[in-house]
Amino acid sequence: MRLVPPEDADETLAPRSSSPATHGATALAGEATLRPGALFAGRYEIQALLGTGGMGSVYRVRDTKLDEVVALKLLTLHGEHAVERFVAEVRLARRVTHPNVARTHDFGEDGRLRFLTMEHVPGTTLERIIEERAPLPTAAVVRLGAQIADGLAAAHEAGVVHRDLKPANVLVDEHERVAITDFGIARAVGRDGGTQTGALLGTPYYMAPEQVMGRPADERSDLYALGVILYELATGARPFPSETPMGAALARLQACPIDPRAHHPVDPGLSSVIMRCLAREPQGRPASAALLRQALRALVGEAPTPAEPTLAGTADSGSRPFAPLATGEGALAVLPFAYRGSSDHGYLGEAMAEELIDLLSRTRGLRVLSMGATRRFAESRDPAEVGAALGVRSIVDGTVWHTGDRVRLSVRMSDRDGTQQWSERFDGSLQDVLALQESLGRRVAEALRIELGAAAYRYAAPPEALELFLRARRLLRKLPLLAGEEAVSQLDRVIELAPDFAPAVASHAIATVRAWWGTEGRPNDELAERARVSVTRAQAQAAELAETHLATSMWEVQGGGFIAAARALGHALEIAPTMAEAHQYLGQLQSEAGRVTEGRERLELALELDPTLLQCHFSLGRIAILEGDHERARAHLDALWYSLPRPPLPAIVMRFRHALFVGDLEEAAAARDVLEGIDTETGQGMLQLAGLAFGETSVAEAEAIFAAVHGPRANTRFAMLMRQIATELYTLAGAREHALRELTAGAESALIDLEWIRKCSVLEPLRGDPAFARAERAVQRRAAAIWR
Ligand code: ADP
Ligand code: MG
Repeated sequence: MRLVPPEDADETLAPRSSSPATHGATALAGEATLRPGALFAGRYEIQALLGTGGMGSVYRVRDTKLDEVVALKLLTLHGEHAVERFVAEVRLARRVTHPNVARTHDFGEDGRLRFLTMEHVPGTTLERIIEERAPLPTAAVVRLGAQIADGLAAAHEAGVVHRDLKPANVLVDEHERVAITDFGIARAVGRDGGTQTGALLGTPYYMAPEQVMGRPADERSDLYALGVILYELATGARPFPSETPMGAALARLQACPIDPRAHHPVDPGLSSVIMRCLAREPQGRPASAALLRQALRALVGEAPTPAEPTLAGTADSGSRPFAPLATGEGALAVLPFAYRGSSDHGYLGEAMAEELIDLLSRTRGLRVLSMGATRRFAESRDPAEVGAALGVRSIVDGTVWHTGDRVRLSVRMSDRDGTQQWSERFDGSLQDVLALQESLGRRVAEALRIELGAAAYRYAAPPEALELFLRARRLLRKLPLLAGEEAVSQLDRVIELAPDFAPAVASHAIATVRAWWGTEGRPNDELAERARVSVTRAQAQAAELAETHLATSMWEVQGGGFIAAARALGHALEIAPTMAEAHQYLGQLQSEAGRVTEGRERLELALELDPTLLQCHFSLGRIAILEGDHERARAHLDALWYSLPRPPLPAIVMRFRHALFVGDLEEAAAARDVLEGIDTETGQGMLQLAGLAFGETSVAEAEAIFAAVHGPRANTRFAMLMRQIATELYTLAGAREHALRELTAGAESALIDLEWIRKCSVLEPLRGDPAFARAERAVQRRAAAIWR
């Protein structure tokens, strides 16, 4: 792509100061070219044309003054103050000295020709490597990607943002050293996605969404571009396939990129790092280039240095080293956190640690030393020393960073031999100190609880089993629910390796119940029986774990045993008051069965405890829909819709139903169209059923499909959901008797969704019917019994 030629192009190409013969410039098809052998600007001997890009041509030249080969780039600058701005930007870029950043030497002018000289990097560009060799194996992607991240980290540290990172700007020499070029140039020529008309003249394939929207770019925009590059290296494909560059640019504002693994069997860890870089919101991306580099290196088994915090969230945790622990008593010491920030909040370090101690000591099975015991280590902080002095097994240490009203907490857990086992970062705002303390404390406690649970088995289980276990745990906290099946097989393997590893036995129970919901392709009774056996085993072997009680409650709910489910959730929360999933399930149950306000608060708490617990958005979205708060409903729906590579079936169904509730048939049709892409049996069934709302599917056809999807193949909970959907769709299709029949069947079986019966707008025509009133009373009785 080429910038428009300057208005004074003719003059540019006919410099006044010297004749074409001496500086070697001739006009050719509207641009300046330099002839090999000629001396340019009285100093540079032209050797060869290296390439032509967005701003002009690049030559390999010999600097006769220094007898050095350099690259010389002719520039097309136009507009007022362009030169000034350019020089300022180049001055900034020159501050960056790093092996992975091509050095910028000088800015010069020869007549009306402006040019830039820089380090010449012999070799090729990443653009060519992608064209010729992608997809590359993980190790190669990491080797290249980590160098780019390294270069970016150095530049960002110097306050320089690239803004136009793309494979053509990444040079690779014969030793596979990477050198990034053109730092800051995008801004210098007004191509940084700012308000200038030049904004979209750069290549939009690598632009971050905020740049596409014309908002200012920052460090995280470079990380987005690097994400696209990594994507291409790993898959050979583009994250937003589109006919046109504009189409690709706009797609990133609306949709998630296609999962890299849809193109190529990319390493799951690499794939998740890439997806994080491609987060639409800058906050969703890795916090810095340095962290990204570290996450990439960790993928090939290079451990992070203990001093550095690891990438927050889940992307990093897959490759943590699992050194066996020295012997110890199993207690935990939390050191007062270090504090960095203005002195008026200096108390925060100790206060945060105190809060955490308080919360952790309420978790059963954890022995946490009081602050009195650890305060004297506020200065020394050497885990080995603390471990030896206090006889504890694990040491938690952290730093509170404070600027403006932002607070960032980085927390580390180490063995007493000093090996870091876990680290994570948490962000908050200081508007309300007490609330912050409470909420950060809870989140840290919950994250630590899971790690500590596994840590307790470091002696009992081989490292491979622990590693697999933590991976399965992460899968289980994620959507889609179908991940349950994958977790089941991972946990089967863990239990094979370490039969006494209680946390795996408990998580296995959760996974089998999870997998029971997605009965796709497997007979219900087989899955039900597997779940029952697993839950029973957990109750026998791991009764002390909160996870076992969570599994029990999930199992009970699927079969309609709500009273037992509520009781089991109570047990889980007694054992682990910060357990996010237990809060989630209880909140969900409450919000359906007549305790909406309490349920909503609990669901919000669950999400705060574990922001990756996307399922909370289903329940919160559902509450908002029924309360008629459509903006909030939309926000929760969007959270589900966009945080996964593809919207999951339940989110599509929810969007469809929501549209019908508000009578927006166009939106409903749009949601239905998305169903076409779901090629599972349930997805296709839903697609046909959706036709009921548009008079495209007959009631008789629908009856057959409903019978198939909620018949003997489904568990009770799933059958109830299908009956609710059937009631709505039949009502919309004017099949009143059918609707009342479904509602009555649900009410007589295991329906507890009192909120829906009372508030769902689609059911309006049925209200007042004696059958409806009977159903409502039955559901109300069932719901009330849960809380008695
Ligand atoms: P773009 O980055 O838009 O492709 P450029 O004008 O920056 O355009 O560069 C054009 C080509 O010149 C690059 O693709 C690369 O092949 C080559 N090139 C640019 N800078 C250098 C350099 N410092 N050393 C070696 N080759 C370079
Ligand atoms: Mg370039």
